Amino acid sequence: MAPGGPGLQVVRIPVLSDNYIWLLHDDATGETAVVDPAVAEPVLAEAARRGWAIGQIWNTHWHADHIGGNDAIKAATGATVSAPAAEAAKIPSFDVALKEGDSVRLGAIEGRVMEVPAHTAGHIAIHLPDAQAVFVGDTLFAMGCGRLFEGTAEQMFDNMARLSALPGETAVYCAHEYTQSNGRYALAAEPDNAAIQARMAAVDDARARGEPTVPTTIALERATNPFMRAGSAGELARRRAAKDVFKG
Ligand code: ZN
Ligand code: FE
Repeated sequence: MAPGGPGLQVVRIPVLSDNYIWLLHDDATGETAVVDPAVAEPVLAEAARRGWAIGQIWNTHWHADHIGGNDAIKAATGATVSAPAAEAAKIPSFDVALKEGDSVRLGAIEGRVMEVPAHTAGHIAIHLPDAQAVFVGDTLFAMGCGRLFEGTAEQMFDNMARLSALPGETAVYCAHEYTQSNGRYALAAEPDNAAIQARMAAVDDARARGEPTVPTTIALERATNPFMRAGSAGELARRRAAKDVFKG
């Protein structure tokens, strides 16, 4: 179990080599959603084990490791698939188009859609302010950011600024366990940053014990994420290019 905000339970389902699927449950209404199901079977098994009926699938972007379970989960549960409007043609079993400012709802819990293009052109994040949680897919990682496959450093810089402006206590649920690799680059990018040094010591310990390092928080990313901390789009671009070829 990963921490969720008031009323929200968030269950981490590790799959493939380093993906996290997030299973969401609203205690008040019993409604359940799954975010970025790379695969179906472990999600259906976890929901069944808990006696939860999956009513919604939320996708942050079209990459296979975020949508691979859509068809089978929808077939098994009748769940509705909500995903970026701009990527509708690439999303299996697509139902509901999500755009900037749209609201989503899991039972009593309200969420707000943020368009965060750059990793993919239509990438979205979903912020649940009352539950103090944001689901960011492959845009923001612990001490990292997504690669710029379909967008620019300027867009990613804007994304980092918007995410950074969320309340510091907001839990950040990213879709991969990339923290240790990201942290090695973060130490190289900001060798004098004591917060990164302290965090990496904790991350190395956690990984040595086989424990996850996600979710993170907005406050922790403000202090330790070299992409969120980049002072300009140019600096973010330089850091992203350096990380792309970094051998830590
Ligand atoms: Zn991706
Ligand atoms: Fe991914």
